[in-house]
Amino acid sequence: MSKLGSSDNPLKVAIVGAGPSGFYAADALINSELKVEINLLEKLCAPYGLVRSGVAPDHPLIKKSMEKFALMAEPDEFNYIGNVCVGKDITVDELKETHHAVIITMGAETDRKLGIPGEDIKGSHTATEFVAWYNGHPEYREREFDLSHETAVIIGQGNVAADVARILSKTIDELKFTDISQHALDVLENSKVKNIYIVGRRGPAQGAMTSKELKEFGQLWDCDTFVDPAETVLNKSSEDELSDRNGRVAKKIYELFCNYAEEKKPHTARQFPWTRPYIKPKKCHIQFLRSPVELKGNKKLEKIIFEKNTLSGDPFKQSAKGTGNKEELDAGILFRSIGYRGVPLDGVPFHDAWGVIPNEKGRVVENEVVVPQLYTAGWIKRGPSGIIGTNKACANETIAELLQDLENLDSKKKKLGLKKIYEILDNKKVRYINFIEWEVIDEQEIHNGKPKGKPREKFTYTDEMLAQLT
Ligand code: NAP
Repeated sequence: MSKLGSSDNPLKVAIVGAGPSGFYAADALINSELKVEINLLEKLCAPYGLVRSGVAPDHPLIKKSMEKFALMAEPDEFNYIGNVCVGKDITVDELKETHHAVIITMGAETDRKLGIPGEDIKGSHTATEFVAWYNGHPEYREREFDLSHETAVIIGQGNVAADVARILSKTIDELKFTDISQHALDVLENSKVKNIYIVGRRGPAQGAMTSKELKEFGQLWDCDTFVDPAETVLNKSSEDELSDRNGRVAKKIYELFCNYAEEKKPHTARQFPWTRPYIKPKKCHIQFLRSPVELKGNKKLEKIIFEKNTLSGDPFKQSAKGTGNKEELDAGILFRSIGYRGVPLDGVPFHDAWGVIPNEKGRVVENEVVVPQLYTAGWIKRGPSGIIGTNKACANETIAELLQDLENLDSKKKKLGLKKIYEILDNKKVRYINFIEWEVIDEQEIHNGKPKGKPREKFTYTDEMLAQLT
């Protein structure tokens, strides 16, 4: 047989998960010197992972990267196979049998747990559920969020917490021209939430939000943002962190928190100067050094018990320790936004404590031994961190390792690739879609958004999407 990667013997790679790292991995292989066949499998009809169903609707510029990924789908070597659940419709072993290599890029689908009493009480949600729901993810379409109480609490202070808080804080007029799903807009329109708490276990020198996201809290039409000035007082280690050159970003964030701690004057921004000052009806409270220790309520969330924390440890290694001081907050809904977590896939090793696939630079390992043919990239490889572009370097690292392994991947056995995938799926009567079919759905969504002035109105049920193709 000709050399692997030649026209007669193309390198056939299956990629599982069509989020950013899946596209970047496909692109890196297509741009290598080799002749390749790339088969990108995706559980949903729609590609783009968290760019479509994670990025906040009011951040349209970040969503622009979908256009870049669509261009990556153009080469003949690229095949998209949407609406296929790997592990159910086709197994990882079947993909290994039919391809030289399989790359798992399925992201981090669930959230970390707090591990406190009452965590699963009605009204306590994960941020991922809420984010996927307002972004029209079909698996979350039927979730219900009760926004009838005046107080909502978000645990964690990363960018996902910021997204959730903004969606709860914004007016319908601020959201209605975004691609937020109509069902979510309808629920938000009737929201009674007035007080939004974003609660961190550590202090303002350890906030995980980025400055752009934090600044947006100063630009909300109907919501003022508050930080208790007493909570901006730093301990010695935190001061050392901020004066260190590695603490420059954290210092900027800290200063933004301090701005919110200054006395608020009633706003006139939306009013003519001669009218009465405009008191914004919603309040966003950013609080520090608190951990929820119990969620209480009769059948549904009514009260959150917090324990005040103190920080201990060397600069940059400080952890929160409970002081024993408790306080209570009445609330009707809580979102745990303490980091995403990967889920295991049958046939692939999984590090349960870390929620990732164990790997060395993208080569999957089990008990420190490399598993032939299996690779990984993105959040399921390194954990949930970084921006969309971070996945490019991550996928490139994996592909560099894969290309070094070329000799080992050459099984001398013909790999049937796409042809065999189609045969397996046809035998199981799976209605998979290709990229051209996705583009039909995509165009229809854009068309449906036009009368409302939205970039698109997403289909939120798989059946609705498939109905566009008949
Ligand atoms: P994250 O940035 O890791 O933030 C997690 C937050 O949860 C931190 O404040 C962390 O505090 C806290 N936390 C963790 N365990 C906790 C516990 N047991 N109790 C209380 N608090 C706890 O995670 P994320 O917000 O999910 O974001 C994931 C990644 O996506 C990040 O890289 C983020 O920047 C990115 N993202 C970017 C954008 C954007 O660019 N606009 C939007 C969304 C997400 P500690 O610091 O104390 O651990």
